[in-house]
Amino acid sequence: MHKIQQIYIDGNFITPHGTEVAPLYNPATEQVIGEVRLADEIDTYAAVSAAKRAFADFSKTTKLERIAILKRLNTAFADRLDDLKAAMTEEYGAVRGIVDGLLPLAPAMFDEASELLASYTFQQTRGSTTVSMDPLGVAVAITPWNLSAVFVAQKVATALAAGCTVVVKPSELSAMQTQIIMEAFDAAALPPGVVNVVTGRGATVGDALTSHPDVAKVDFTGSTAVGQRIMRNAADTFKRLTLELGGKSPTILLDDTDIPSGVNAALTSGFLNNGQTCFAGTRILAPESELDAVLAAIQAAMPAFTAGDPTDPATSVGPVVSQAQFDRVQGYIRLGLEEGAHLLTGGAGRPDGINQGWFVKPTIFTGVTNDMRIAREEIFGPVLVVIPYRDDDEAVAIANDSPFGLQAHVFSSNPQRAHQVAERLEAGTVLVNRIFGDPRAPFGGMKQSGIGRHHHTYGLESYLEPRAITA
Ligand code: NAD
Repeated sequence: MHKIQQIYIDGNFITPHGTEVAPLYNPATEQVIGEVRLADEIDTYAAVSAAKRAFADFSKTTKLERIAILKRLNTAFADRLDDLKAAMTEEYGAVRGIVDGLLPLAPAMFDEASELLASYTFQQTRGSTTVSMDPLGVAVAITPWNLSAVFVAQKVATALAAGCTVVVKPSELSAMQTQIIMEAFDAAALPPGVVNVVTGRGATVGDALTSHPDVAKVDFTGSTAVGQRIMRNAADTFKRLTLELGGKSPTILLDDTDIPSGVNAALTSGFLNNGQTCFAGTRILAPESELDAVLAAIQAAMPAFTAGDPTDPATSVGPVVSQAQFDRVQGYIRLGLEEGAHLLTGGAGRPDGINQGWFVKPTIFTGVTNDMRIAREEIFGPVLVVIPYRDDDEAVAIANDSPFGLQAHVFSSNPQRAHQVAERLEAGTVLVNRIFGDPRAPFGGMKQSGIGRHHHTYGLESYLEPRAITA
C-alpha cells in the first residue's frame, strides 16, 4: 500500500492541514493500492505565501544561478525516471511505449529551459526605449494525471527560467507520480519556497489558487471545462494565463497516401496513452474514393491495438484511468450507436477475456458525420471515428469544423501538397506525415483548445512582463 501523506511547502515535507484521505486505484485491477491525504485551502495559502516570500530573492537571481538550478533539476528528474515509469503504469495503466517514449521529455524540459535562458536577453532595446522583461511573480502550475512529470517539468522549468516562483497543483489522481516529483525537487536543493507542491482537489486547492490575489500567473493543462472555470476565477485580478486544453484532432489521409502506413500512424495517434492524449488524432478523415481500402487497412492493423495488461511490454492499449472515465467512455460508445454510427470494431463492454479493470475495447465508428457528438466532443478513451470526404477542400472544411484546434495531421505521398493542406488547418500544431511534434516548436491550441503556447521564447515570455522605459 502506498501511503502519501505529505505535501511540499517552503522546502519541507509537511503533513497537510487538510484531512480528507482519498483512495488510489490500479486501473488494471480496480484494486485499492494506496491512499493520499489531500491539502485544503489553508495549505494552499501557506504555499502561496512561501512562494511570494521566495520571489523577493529569486526574481533577482542571475541567469547563471538559475541555469545551475535547472541543471540540478535535470539530474534529479533523470535519476527518478525508472520510479516514475513504474508509478505511471501502476497508477494509470501507462503502457511501455508511453513511459519509454515520452517520459524522458521530463528531464529534457529543464535542459531546454537552461539552454534558452543562456541565450535570452532580458534587457532589450527598441528605438529609444529600454524594455526589461521582468518575471511576473508567483506562478501556479495545474497539471493532469497523464504524464504528470512531463507537464510539471515543462511548467516549472519555464517559470524558474523566467525568475518566477511556483506552486504546483498536480492531479489528485497522480499522487504516486507526485510523491516522486516532490522528492526530485527536494533532491535538487532549491532555495526554500521556490517550488511548492500542493496535492488537492480542484474545487478546493484549485479554486483557492486561481482566485488568490498573490498569484500572478496560472499555467494549466487539463480539460476545457476546467480551463473555462480558471479563466473566470482569474478575471478578478487579471492573472496571466496559459491554458492547454482538450482536443479532437483530425488525421487527414489524402488520396495519395500510402494507406497501410497512414492508417497505422492514425491508429497509433488515436489510441496513444490508452486513448487519453489531448493531441490524439481521434477523427480519421478518409477520402471517399479510398474508403473501402482505408477500412480494410484499419481492420488489418487492429490486432496490434488490442487492450490488455499494461505491465506486458507487448501491450499497446491499457485501461482508462478511473471508473468515472470508464463509465463516460462507455456512454460515448452507446451514444455513437444511438446517433446512427456503425461499429467497424470494438463496442460497449470490456474486451473479450478481460473481466476486471477499466479496459475499453478499442473502438472505431464508421458512417459518422462531423455533426455527431462522437465527432465533436473529446471522449478521452480509445474511441475513434472515420469520416469520409470528397476532395481536399471538404477535408479541410471538416477538419476545421470543430470547437477545438490543438493538433492536426496530414498524410500524403506528396509533401508539397500536404504542406498546402497543412497551411489551411486551424490547429496550434499541424504535423505532416508524422504524429509526434518537435519538442522545440511552440505547443498549444487554437479555439477551445486553449490560450498561449509552451516551449522556447513563446513559453518563456508568457512568464515575463515587459517594462518599457523611454528616456
Ligand atoms: P481535468 O481538467 O479534470 O483536471 C486537470 C487538473 O485540473 C487536475 O489537477 C484537477 O484537479 C484540476 N482542477 C479540477 N477542477 C479545478 C478547478 N476548479 N480549479 C483549478 N483546477 C482544477 O483534466 P484531467 O482529467 O486531469 O486530464 C484530462 C484532460 O486534460 C483532457 O481534457 C485532455 O485533453 C487535457 N489535456 C490537455 C493537454 C494539452 O497539452 N493540451 C495535455 C494533457 C491533457
